[in-house]
Amino acid sequence: MSRYLRSSYQTLTAYVPGEQPRDLAYIKLNTNESPYPPAPQVVAAVNAGQIELLRLYSDPTCMGLKQKLAAQTGLLPENIFISNGSDDALNFVFMAYSELGATFADITYGFYPIYANLHAAPTRVIPLEDDFSLDPGQYQGCKGLIVIANPNAPTGLSISVDAIEGILRDNPDAVVAIDEAYVDFGGDSALPLLKKYDNLLVIRTFSKSRCFAGGRLGYIVGNAPLIADLEKLRCSTNPFNIDRLALVMGEATVDADSYYVEKCQEICRTRDKTAAALRQLGLRVLPSKTNFLFVHAGAVGGERMYLELKKRAILVRHFPSARTKDYIRVTIGTPAQMEIFVAAVEEILQQ
Ligand SMILES: *Cc1c(COP(=O)(O)O)cnc(C)c1O
Repeated sequence: MSRYLRSSYQTLTAYVPGEQPRDLAYIKLNTNESPYPPAPQVVAAVNAGQIELLRLYSDPTCMGLKQKLAAQTGLLPENIFISNGSDDALNFVFMAYSELGATFADITYGFYPIYANLHAAPTRVIPLEDDFSLDPGQYQGCKGLIVIANPNAPTGLSISVDAIEGILRDNPDAVVAIDEAYVDFGGDSALPLLKKYDNLLVIRTFSKSRCFAGGRLGYIVGNAPLIADLEKLRCSTNPFNIDRLALVMGEATVDADSYYVEKCQEICRTRDKTAAALRQLGLRVLPSKTNFLFVHAGAVGGERMYLELKKRAILVRHFPSARTKDYIRVTIGTPAQMEIFVAAVEEILQQ
């Protein structure tokens, strides 16, 4: 760190993403990417002509993609905010609404405390129950921002739309942001609540269910005044934060919805089979509504399980904090990858 850095940034700790090895020799089950490629229409959407057009700026309003997402959600373009992945969306949400507070669970997406710190939010952490479930009754009288991943990461558990409605009702002085990164794998969306609550934002990403983690597209759905706030901040930061090719491919992605629905179903089937196989081995697996499983590593322990799997060229994620250290989080890959994973776990348990 240099002595020139703004004093308020000197104590920041940056988010550490899951490992991204440069060689593709690993079975990579550590960052919840899709094992499947984008739809053929998305691949076909980019051609030499599109690349030649890169000399021109991208559309700063992202109107084509907004219109398609508005049509898909039954809303208007003024209800949609497009971002460079949903991390970018989350950053703007914290920038906009966390002045009076940022409230989130103790075990959830690791980026929330980083953004809270970056934007100097007074932070309130509400612990999950012993079984990692979220008690909505604990969210009372919050100010500023509440952010909830539903389904949650890394647990894979989801809460009901009724529970979210309770939180919205009990916290009229806070913006409630529901991070639906995994909703397409079996969770219930909070989108229907937008008609009734002006303090709700629903954050989505193309990274997981749309096989587009490297393409960097996310979006927020919300009532127009909130979306206008976020647009003001985005255009005060980088109005061209979405590149031309991402917009073209993003529009093709929305058009190819049925391809992705099918892939999500396939991943859910593989997930349930993998969970059953792990339970057969005597391991405790949390019920997942996501494209990953949170698995208690038994007597082996979370860290050793992670290291032993890595030795066998399988990457999973281990979170060393007190409440999560006995677990590993494993992304659902192809059926063949998951068979290799389960066989490796069996071997490690027998060592
Ligand atoms: C993966 C993830 C995101 C962010 O993903 P992007 O690639 O930035 O869209 C956001 N929230 C949760 C809970 C995630 O797991």
